[in-house]
Amino acid sequence: MEKTFLMVKPDGVQRGLIGEIVSRFENKGFQLVGAKLMVIPRSVAEQHYGEHQDKPFFGELVDFITSGPVFAMVWEGEDVIATARQMMGKTKPAEATPGTIRGDYGVTVGKNIIHGSDSPTSAKREIALFFDEKEIASWEKLLNRWVY
Ligand code: UDP
Repeated sequence: MEKTFLMVKPDGVQRGLIGEIVSRFENKGFQLVGAKLMVIPRSVAEQHYGEHQDKPFFGELVDFITSGPVFAMVWEGEDVIATARQMMGKTKPAEATPGTIRGDYGVTVGKNIIHGSDSPTSAKREIALFFDEKEIASWEKLLNRWVY
């Protein structure tokens, strides 16, 4: 089954949106297999956003993502990578459709509440960057027989 890396960013944690965001993915039918509240070390943040290192917003992005705790998660399910991106909405909250997480709760691109892997390659890389294998639970969710 496919896995993705999702993270409630420091703005989402401060605004008390962890529960709301976890609920959306639970209600959808996806399965939580790993989660932790953590302050990201600067070196990990720089690796995580490595593809943006030459962009003008890179410094601010790393400052922001390391400025307070994030809620890092691994979710599992059929097509969870693409579906989670749909549920998050577009990067710029002003372009994100109402009903999506960024559409409902975000205002600016710098504080857009949530991160989610954008491809199977990034999901694999990001899960390995944030989680040890032993932090990921393999468990049978009984409700899955009513989802699949
Ligand atoms: N970002 C920013 N300014 C920009 C573009 C992006 O601060 O002009 C931030 C924004 O928080 C975004 C993150 O950089 O979520 C990573 O950008 P990406 O294009 O990978 O968007 P995402 O995959 O998060 O939708």
